[in-house]
Amino acid sequence: KSTAVSKGDDSVNNTEEDEEEDVVDLAATSLLNKLIRQSLVESSHLVEVLQKDPSSPLYSVKTFEELRLKEELLKGIYAMGFNRPSKIQEMALPMMLAHPPQNLIAQSQSGTGKTAAFVLAMLSRVNALELFPQCLCLAPTYELALQTGRVVERMGKFCVDVQVMYAIRGNRIPRGTDITKQIIIGTPGTVLDWCFKRKLIDLAKIRVFVLDEADVMIDTQGFSDQSIRIQRALPSECQMLLFSATFEDSVWQFAERIIPDPNVIKLRKEELTLNNIRQYYVLCENRKEKYQALCNIYGGITIGQAIIFCQTRRNAKWLTVEMMQDGHQVSLLSGELTVDQRASIIQRFRDGKEKVLITTNVCARGIDVKQVTIVVNFDLPVNQAEEPDYETYLHRIGRTGRFGKKGLAFNMIEVDKLPLLMKIQDHFNSSIKQLDPEDMDEIE
Ligand code: ADP
Repeated sequence: KSTAVSKGDDSVNNTEEDEEEDVVDLAATSLLNKLIRQSLVESSHLVEVLQKDPSSPLYSVKTFEELRLKEELLKGIYAMGFNRPSKIQEMALPMMLAHPPQNLIAQSQSGTGKTAAFVLAMLSRVNALELFPQCLCLAPTYELALQTGRVVERMGKFCVDVQVMYAIRGNRIPRGTDITKQIIIGTPGTVLDWCFKRKLIDLAKIRVFVLDEADVMIDTQGFSDQSIRIQRALPSECQMLLFSATFEDSVWQFAERIIPDPNVIKLRKEELTLNNIRQYYVLCENRKEKYQALCNIYGGITIGQAIIFCQTRRNAKWLTVEMMQDGHQVSLLSGELTVDQRASIIQRFRDGKEKVLITTNVCARGIDVKQVTIVVNFDLPVNQAEEPDYETYLHRIGRTGRFGKKGLAFNMIEVDKLPLLMKIQDHFNSSIKQLDPEDMDEIE
């Protein structure tokens, strides 16, 4: 059975938790993105570069050969199916591999090739014959550390003597152990412990220091300070690299504190637009009527693939059960599932094994399911103050102008929520047409 809940499943009982909206957990979203990612995210923007020394020539590469990598590393890259550097890699790799090493702060949205870039830098700087930690990578969670480690293992497949070790909670190392692995990936707390308390890692010997997912990192209590304490103990010739998917002021301030004399590379995110989306609304008296309206358009929406958004977990569960009882095939993606479970549901949806996905806000951020042509707001996104949540509306429905397909959006609106919808319409300066759910022919 493919669906997350089935008829009469006990787990569908409501609990207090269900009233909660799913909060956006940055680390979980990031992990989910990695688990479901299959290819590079495209971008139509130009890479912006700010050099530490503006007078030095700026190199960019169009091929991996130009980087003069070790043979076994180049083999590893090609074995991963990479043909040429990604947009951000074209600029970042020559800087990261330069002699003498240069420090770098790089920002670009998830999926643009940052991890592959710094893994390449670590693997190219490591000396396989020296049996002690030489590269140190900090990650915000255990799971994210493991994902990066997997990339090291794949790309370093032919670098046979290079090994990875995880400095993460639960990885117990007996007292007096000599760490002989060259690449350490871990969370700040455990790394700090291994360096200062347990003296397992000699920071003076680290050549490459990577701080990954800086935006997620500073979101976790204590991680900024711990990272800075680690960074302070590194030798001055150590190469320091920082990566982030977003770049709010707080991330930038942290980046500047922790990375001395950096080059800076930024790739702006593709903006979302509603231009290619036909938006409709159906006016209803209550939830039951909203449900009826949804059933009326169900036949129409399953021509393509659809995502239905609810505001709370409870509503999402209720809707899932109702639809299943009426014989519709739907699956439920909600925040109480583990990231692995979520990834597998999204994967099934991507593979076309599921046509309709019911979800709360967890799915709206960052996760793009390209083939989705229809989005239904079973509940309008609102914030704490019961005002429209414009950003979430855009994330649910918007597409990137250049790479996105055309789409359809339906809003199921209770009469008293109509003013909110009108605000959304005004805010985006786009028209949302009323639809009679009995008459799908109205949809052009
Ligand atoms: P980020 O760290 O920015 O999220 P990743 O390095 O994880 O991005 O890359 C995103 C996806 O694209 C991964 O599946 C990765 O294997 C792939 N990828 C990275 N660089 C390239 C490349 N040069 N060519 C093809 N695929 C790539």
